[in-house]
Amino acid sequence: MTPFTYTPLPSRVVFGVGALQHLGREIEAIGATRTLVLSTPEQIGAAHRVAALLGERAVGVFAEARMHVPIDTARAARAEAKRLGADCAVAIGGGSTIGLGKAIALEAPEGDFPIIAIPTTYAGSEMTSIYGLTEGGVKKTGRDPKVLPRSVLYDPELTLTLPIGMTLTSALNAIAHAAEGLYAHDGNPIVTLMAEEGIRAAAAALPRLADDPHDLEARGDALYAAWLCGSVLGNVSMGLHHKLCHTLGGTFDLPHAEVHTVILPHALAYNAAAAPEAMRRIARALGVAGSEPRRAAGAVFDLARANGAPTALAAIGMSADGLDRAADLAVQNSYPNPRPLERAAIRELLQRAFDGTRPD
Ligand code: NAD
Repeated sequence: MTPFTYTPLPSRVVFGVGALQHLGREIEAIGATRTLVLSTPEQIGAAHRVAALLGERAVGVFAEARMHVPIDTARAARAEAKRLGADCAVAIGGGSTIGLGKAIALEAPEGDFPIIAIPTTYAGSEMTSIYGLTEGGVKKTGRDPKVLPRSVLYDPELTLTLPIGMTLTSALNAIAHAAEGLYAHDGNPIVTLMAEEGIRAAAAALPRLADDPHDLEARGDALYAAWLCGSVLGNVSMGLHHKLCHTLGGTFDLPHAEVHTVILPHALAYNAAAAPEAMRRIARALGVAGSEPRRAAGAVFDLARANGAPTALAAIGMSADGLDRAADLAVQNSYPNPRPLERAAIRELLQRAFDGTRPD
């Protein structure tokens, strides 16, 4: 076995139906008394329920979280936390809301402003020390241990309201973290275990959720997958797939989870021959046997298509005349990826993703 270093993330996890009821205990454990509750405008009802649950330990609700954490929103949230004398934040929602909590923690002195995350999508931000901030149309990301949530409550009941379209794409977003974790240059056997099990659990939950979005057991399995896949994202470096999604989302303003869903099969096909062991594990987790490395890419495409998730960039708002620019941006900076970054092949990848052609 290749020598490796594994640093477990320091977050505490409370998992299962009713986990939300443990919030007061988690707040006490971190020694906070004045909580600011964060959400998007759409989830303000959930934020107020959290505040009500905390009673006098909640000092306010800031329900203005937005996709990609615009710097003005981050500044407004920081000002509100200061005005209210808040000493911690509870972020209830998806990656956008958790990202806003991280933006507040980033500016606070070390350890001064802990975050508790209550994820309601499968994006996985709660398990990472990665933050993102968007200023002047450019999204900058970085890693800082300060922003890692101190405690995470995974309660499947809170995901019952996630619309089915978002449910499918968000679960595929989770699979993308695990798939790239399997060929990460800084991977290790523990992350590999989490990644393969995460893909298996997400793929098994998807058809059940497509069939019945209120299947609480399947919601629990999908959230378990989100936890595992988010942990992979938090532990190792991502490659071409995440780079492409970051570029397409940021530069062309495409929806985050949908972009991940459409690009993943094509990014895997690109890397297939250079990462056969990862492909074998992905295929096994998806229940397709065989040693041909490109099977994994086709199986991910089939999983999306069979359950009604989008499979073409053209269908999610990308215009064909942006594809050349996207290929240029993808090769602008070098980063580790199993197969070297080749502009012409990446342009072809983007064309197939644009058209929604099955990789085979
Ligand atoms: P999101 O947080 O933007 O949520 C999308 C919409 O779904 C919002 O309107 C939200 O209110 C709504 N929603 C969420 N959960 C719901 C529920 N249970 N019921 C009803 N509505 C619900 O989407 P996302 O995909 O979770 O997050 C995307 C953002 O997170 C992107 O900006 C991405 O870059 C970031 N992200 C960051 C990391 C990280 O490690 N830093 C990881 C993953 C994603």
